[in-house]
Amino acid sequence: MQLLDGKATSEQIKAEIADQVALIKASGGKVPHLAAILVGNDGASETYVNSKVLDCAQVGFESTLIRLEASVSEAELLARIDQLNKDPQIDGFIVQVPLPRHIDEIKVTLAIDPAKDVDGFSPTNVGKMTLGLPTFISATPNGVMELLRRYKVDTAGKHCVVVGRSNIVGTPMALLMSRNTNPGNATVTLVHSRTQNIAQICRSADILIVAIGRPHFLTADMVKEGAVVIDVGITRVPDDSRASGFRLAGDVDFEAVKHKCSFITPVPGGVGPMTRASLLQNTLKAQLLRAR
Ligand code: NAP
Repeated sequence: MQLLDGKATSEQIKAEIADQVALIKASGGKVPHLAAILVGNDGASETYVNSKVLDCAQVGFESTLIRLEASVSEAELLARIDQLNKDPQIDGFIVQVPLPRHIDEIKVTLAIDPAKDVDGFSPTNVGKMTLGLPTFISATPNGVMELLRRYKVDTAGKHCVVVGRSNIVGTPMALLMSRNTNPGNATVTLVHSRTQNIAQICRSADILIVAIGRPHFLTADMVKEGAVVIDVGITRVPDDSRASGFRLAGDVDFEAVKHKCSFITPVPGGVGPMTRASLLQNTLKAQLLRAR
């Protein structure tokens, strides 16, 4: 079993980005600038956004964090997005989800200029990804692809089962794995909560990518000997022994499953850091495209 170490790989990617930023600076160019809008004070969202700000500092990007009250109106949020769309200093920005229930996430996604949509959630960017055109691919599937690429995991002709069909993880993941690319060229099955015989389908997988948010859903009996297992899930599980009061759990029963795998990602330290690195890659790309 080989660990797919997302933490170490993301540090390598960040070092590569920092080198590129140094070159941009040396040539008198504009340093990439990422903005993030955080609405309300959801604990997990706070953690994610704060990490993104720290990542920016680590690679030499500028960053701006815009905090809005949970009670902010949809109109006010859309107005802030419009400002960021028009601000020449901002190369890319994200609106951290989930949003309060009174705000329509689709409207928010549609309001973001696709050229600054470094999360890759806008219909324009999703459409470009579907057509195989250069675009911002959403950070988590992109991070998984990068991890497979850097570890030279052979995916061509393999049976890849993606568990979960969300717009930001499962669906793009399935699409990317099925494309004529490397990694990719897999034969993909996408399963979800209405699928029958999930265990049986998972057992037939050479590559399993699990993104459902159900701690330890994937058990050893669902995994074929030698499979590659990618655990996207992150759930906060109450844990009194920790100062934080919780620990992070993946969708895979790691301790039981790891013995059967050729490659496996840990949680934490697997897909999570790769997602963060992908956002930086997208922001750098946005800046380079704007500077042209
Ligand atoms: P989501 O929008 O809630 O989607 C969950 C998907 O899982 C849905 O398609 C759902 O099926 C499916 N599902 C739920 N229970 C299932 C079951 N028992 N069997 C089969 N399918 C089931 O979640 P998401 O945004 O994709 O996130 C999934 C997990 O990944 C969460 O833990 C999230 O925190 C984590 N995540 C991690 C990262 C990272 O950087 N590591 C990034 C994003 C998300 P239906 O469509 O039929 O309801």
